[in-house]
Amino acid sequence: MKTFASWVVVGSLIFAVAGPVARAAESRSARAAWAREWRADNPVWRGVHLSVHSDAQADQLAAQLTALKAVGVNALVVEVDYSYEFKSHPELRPPQIVTQAKAQELAQEARSLGIRLIPQLNCLGHQSWAKVTDPLLVKYPQFDETPGQFPGNTNIYCRSWCPQNPDVNKVVFALIDDLADGFDADAFHVGMDEVFLIASEYCPRCRGGDPAKLFAKAVNDLHQHIVGKRKLEMLMWSDRLLDAQALGYSKWEASANGTSGAIDLVPKDIILCDWHYEKRASYPSVPFFLEKGFRVWPSGWQPLEAAQAFSAFAKTQKNERMLGYLGTTWGKVKIPEMAEWPPIMQVLHQWDSN
Ligand SMILES: [Zn+2]
Repeated sequence: MKTFASWVVVGSLIFAVAGPVARAAESRSARAAWAREWRADNPVWRGVHLSVHSDAQADQLAAQLTALKAVGVNALVVEVDYSYEFKSHPELRPPQIVTQAKAQELAQEARSLGIRLIPQLNCLGHQSWAKVTDPLLVKYPQFDETPGQFPGNTNIYCRSWCPQNPDVNKVVFALIDDLADGFDADAFHVGMDEVFLIASEYCPRCRGGDPAKLFAKAVNDLHQHIVGKRKLEMLMWSDRLLDAQALGYSKWEASANGTSGAIDLVPKDIILCDWHYEKRASYPSVPFFLEKGFRVWPSGWQPLEAAQAFSAFAKTQKNERMLGYLGTTWGKVKIPEMAEWPPIMQVLHQWDSN
């Protein structure tokens, strides 16, 4: 007959073996339950998109959460990119980072206020900015869509990784896992805006390929991991899915480089952040995406008049897949002043009544 003490020992051993897996499953189910509750409480998504690249910025954001909540913010898209304490790939950490401990702290504070925090890593495109190439293509130059080309990043907008490189996803998925776990996320934003280098003549795999199919492959690979495996919601900027000419947009906020056909090759459960920063009479991309069956989160910026025009147009779209409004900031306002910035404060206010 076993004594109580020996059962405790046996029980502890079982717990020790099953512990991490059980705890991960428990944490996943708790996250999913929180997200369900959040959705029920927040039929309208009132979001802010911002960059957080250090613990100091994370602290600034944490200090603003109550003020942001007071102006109606219930979701934050936090673009961290490579500025994170990646456990899986420490070689990709830049000198200034958000630590895992700080990410946990920020996520917890946001959650306690009912604010959904969605981390972001720019995928595929935006792998450099001006002369500076981001760590992924510095450490793994073989992932570059244009390897060895454009020294100093001259004559290009931003570098891209190659969606057909056989090794790139393994690294990227590990980074996404680190960020999603660090921020206890139930959703993930993959960026993917303004991808100009795709199907490049300099890529031995993609040369002569169909940009729409290659872009869709990148989206579908990410979806398979984020939604399929990790059971998170996936968000992306949606400019590459719009035909600039057909819809009358510029080559920035819509595609003039052959990727727009990807719209019919990617899953409809991806949330499309449809960004437009110009004041226009109408924004045909919004009904276009809604009619295609996607959920749309219109994303404006500044000036105030443009943000108001886009927001007002979006509000006229009576569709259950219209999520609300996402205010981007792009460095035009510092984190401590964000809640008082008119393009956020005044425009989000338009979405109060729902
Ligand atoms: Zn390629």
